[in-house]
Amino acid sequence: MEILIALHSGFCVGVERAFRIALETAEASKSAYMLGNLVHNKLVVERLKSFGVKTVSDISEIPTGAKGILIISAHGVAPDVYEKAKGKRLEVIDTTCPWVKKAQKIAKEFSDEGRLVIIVGDKGHPEVKGIVGWSGGKAVVVEEQKDLERLGLAPETPVGILAQTTQPEAHFAAMVSALKKIVGDVREYDTICGATTKRQSAAIELARKVDLVLVIGDQLSANTKRLTELCAKTGTETHQIETVAELNLKWLAGKKKVGITAGASTPEWVIKDILDKLKKL
Ligand code: SF4
Repeated sequence: MEILIALHSGFCVGVERAFRIALETAEASKSAYMLGNLVHNKLVVERLKSFGVKTVSDISEIPTGAKGILIISAHGVAPDVYEKAKGKRLEVIDTTCPWVKKAQKIAKEFSDEGRLVIIVGDKGHPEVKGIVGWSGGKAVVVEEQKDLERLGLAPETPVGILAQTTQPEAHFAAMVSALKKIVGDVREYDTICGATTKRQSAAIELARKVDLVLVIGDQLSANTKRLTELCAKTGTETHQIETVAELNLKWLAGKKKVGITAGASTPEWVIKDILDKLKKL
């Protein structure tokens, strides 16, 4: 059995940076609080916890006067979180990925221009919620073309459209062109990050060469889920697993070439465990 590994697998630069900063912060302070998960990967979150970082789902959970440090995740947050942190006298360590910052800035610009802000992305994702906050809370989130139709937009509505950073390029392009058939005044900004595009193209290329693709990453990770969908679309058998314990040996029966790719939030040590197991087989 041959094992092929996709280019651009595992931690992207944004996650690598966020993880490094969070670890450095934990080493320097005994009262570091993480707002939400640094990234969507349980193993990364557990590793930070083992370094003493306390995870809170809302800033209100941090006691007033705690004099701690608030770590903001790579997904970013809405502007009111910075205000609340100030109110609680928390020092903010901001690991928001620069690509996400860019999307936040564009949402604000569109909103300041008086446009309806449309974000193509996953409604419940923290990155998207943060971007909505930067639009003044007024942005609408759409996933598919039928969501655009449901908005019932008047043809003269000025609109600005952008994407969650992990959306596939082709999907965003299709959404923009569908929007342009509904309204006349559209400003678009492709906020998809370069790392995502490269990872997705490499995964598709790999899937076309192998009999089985294993996508490694947390089920909550939007970019990993997207990789799984894109690989499966090529027609090659594809499974997403979080750890080596989920590797089903039956999938490997009769397979000559197995491809491996991993989401941007998947740590190196998890990929290595799975590769070691496959190599032993
Ligand atoms: S996937 Fe892109 S936007 Fe998200 S953290 Fe990584 S580099 Fe940043």
